[in-house]
Amino acid sequence: MKLTVPHMGLLSVAYTEILRKHGVDMMPPPRPSVNTLNLGTRNSPEFACLPFKINLGNMIESLDNGADTILMPGGSGPCRFGYYGVVQEQILKSLGYEFNMTLTDNPDSLSGMVGTIRDISDIKDKKHAFTVFYLILIKMAALDKAQSMYHWYKPREINRNESDKAYSGAVRTIGKATTYRELYRSWKEVKKIFRDVKADMKHKPLKVGVLGEIFVVIEPFANMMFEKKLLDMGVEIVRGVWLSDWLNDRFRFKPFRKNQNKLAKKWAYPYLKYASGGESIESVGKTVKFSREGIDGVIHIMPFTCMPELVAATIMNRISTDMNYPVLSLTFDENVSEVNLQTRIEAFVDLLERRKKCWKVS
Ligand code: SF4
Repeated sequence: MKLTVPHMGLLSVAYTEILRKHGVDMMPPPRPSVNTLNLGTRNSPEFACLPFKINLGNMIESLDNGADTILMPGGSGPCRFGYYGVVQEQILKSLGYEFNMTLTDNPDSLSGMVGTIRDISDIKDKKHAFTVFYLILIKMAALDKAQSMYHWYKPREINRNESDKAYSGAVRTIGKATTYRELYRSWKEVKKIFRDVKADMKHKPLKVGVLGEIFVVIEPFANMMFEKKLLDMGVEIVRGVWLSDWLNDRFRFKPFRKNQNKLAKKWAYPYLKYASGGESIESVGKTVKFSREGIDGVIHIMPFTCMPELVAATIMNRISTDMNYPVLSLTFDENVSEVNLQTRIEAFVDLLERRKKCWKVS
């Protein structure tokens, strides 16, 4: 079995080496690129959202490279994601590919995920599969933490691109860990890597909250490296959506971290009382939270045709008016131009800077 899983941010870094150690012949697809998107777009229904197209493109690339089994999360819920795998399987079969599709029945269920690990690896003991699954989760949390450190250091770095090198080094170091002990050691090394970055600790950069649909937020290709563009402008990013938080809300591997979904529900309550799919409740709730925490503004990103985030965007407009708080919503699909994106981000950052100066003067 040559197993492939479509990319989603740093997720593949968290599981690839661990699963290889347990006998899985992993064949990760190439990082998403224009070729991936073209393949996905050409073979997807027109109304499909961007994550569907990028996932499908990644699957085609992997099958062309020799993979014969695809692992894809399934599930239920008010968002279309739940039936992606089934539709993608039909499209790929109609294109003539021969392969097996393994759908995780319910990515919210611990026994379902542990069962998937036993199905694909040489681990047969349930307890062992459980510890391996938790190791992947903790590794994912370490990768997210390294990324948030990068978001903090980048706008304060003194030597150009020193924090970028630190971040790539951190991802490489964590990626190699295949046991709890190795992960612990790699984390110590990561802390040292970032400590060595020369930073202006007194500098107070502009802070922008980033919210939206989880795939476009965490997959740099899907958002056209939008976070990197902000960081290069000297802006600090405060992300409200992390894959490890999404996983922690379901599997509680970070016992001291509050359930982000429940927290967001409390903040969102005056505006949105029920989760309407995707990350809509987080987008609404955390806009209220960020506005009260002194974050200078929020950029909300979503794929074109994403129903849950469209609901959130409409409500966030109201929050922006009610609280006199800057919110910019950006939509991504295969037709978005990079120049257009750059111009809109620059205009928004410019507005935030002027606003901050005005507050200081008054
Ligand atoms: S949340 Fe939106 S973009 Fe994401 S899978 Fe669901 S419908 Fe598609």
